[in-house]
Amino acid sequence: MAIPLLFLIADTGGGHRAGATAVARRIERDSPGTFDVHIVDPVASGSPALLGRTADLYGPLIQHARWLWAAMYHATNSRAAIRMLRGSALRPVRDAVAQLLTCLRPAAVVSFHPLLNHLAAQAVHTGAFPRVPVITVITDLVDVHAGWACRDVDAVVIPSPGGLDRCRRAGIPAHRCHQLGLPVGSAFARPLPTDQERRELRHRLGLADDRFTVLVCSGADGSGGLDRRAQAIAAARLDVGMAVICGRNARARRRLEGLRDRAGRSIPVHGFVDDMADWMRAADLVVTKAGPGTIVESLCSGLPMLLTWYIPGQERGNLEWLVDTGAGRYVPGVGQLVDAVDELSAPRSPGLAAMRSAVAAVARPEATERIAALISGMAGGRT
Ligand code: UDP
Repeated sequence: MAIPLLFLIADTGGGHRAGATAVARRIERDSPGTFDVHIVDPVASGSPALLGRTADLYGPLIQHARWLWAAMYHATNSRAAIRMLRGSALRPVRDAVAQLLTCLRPAAVVSFHPLLNHLAAQAVHTGAFPRVPVITVITDLVDVHAGWACRDVDAVVIPSPGGLDRCRRAGIPAHRCHQLGLPVGSAFARPLPTDQERRELRHRLGLADDRFTVLVCSGADGSGGLDRRAQAIAAARLDVGMAVICGRNARARRRLEGLRDRAGRSIPVHGFVDDMADWMRAADLVVTKAGPGTIVESLCSGLPMLLTWYIPGQERGNLEWLVDTGAGRYVPGVGQLVDAVDELSAPRSPGLAAMRSAVAAVARPEATERIAALISGMAGGRT
């Protein structure tokens, strides 16, 4: 019988679920039939009142009241605040986690969220079920919120030296810290497409197969004025192809319906897509916010990035790090954005070549495989 594993996520943004799904698929690929992974959002299922609604509000908040999100992020970014949350708003979620443990009897609990790791550790240490390993997989890239640094877990998967520093300072012993990178779906970790494969992919996706292609996206919620930025690129006299992925932002999608470039060519505009890897593999350049998931996926797809926006708190550090590596540029204004696309899309652009080299130097497509091996090893399956 397959060994059950419990993966805890919250559906705020897309990064927690994407990371958990990538690791679950990798475990199944490496040890077929050995594990039965349950990916559950106990915030949605276990908290009737305030917290569930707060999670639902994440998308609108980051879209329309960034300052309020920043205030919430910073107010909770300490061990004392996490302790307080555990004893108050998170109690119903802790009960939901304990119930999941009782029902599923998992061989390991893995949290892809900075609050659920505390609840999992608490439930495992105080519950009536066998003592199973609790593992945190951090899905932020550089600025690691205090919540991630839970000392009561058996292992923490850390994406970057900055994250390692945060966990060590919080008192997590070195042998429990595993700096393995951020999980990324296997579709992004494939070898880069040949020219022929890319032409075929563009054809299938409704893109011109011979033109420099810009992919405009902005996380699962399509936040940060992506419609305005897409319109500006379309309106400029640039010889580029473009596609826009609006994610769950239905309003932006409606506004961009029928979008055409200056030559009258139609531009593909989509809502939430399940084949982001194909869109990235078809593109030459990504215009996006500084979301950790999209950044590592773009790096693994060999794509330089123009970052236009960030969620305050957890994404500011991503932006600074990416700009430092040379793999991305920060272009918050639409004028700057259009100029950068113009420069980088020019034939044999030296700027683009330099960014591509930087991308190749920092991509870590092997991260998911190593995270999957750590979890399956700790859960008692194949190592
Ligand atoms: N994503 C997707 N389809 C979409 C839009 C986004 O699958 O239409 C995925 C994207 O590939 C990435 C995640 O959602 O894995 C977004 O994560 P990120 O950390 O960039 O931003 P967040 O949405 O968490 O703010």
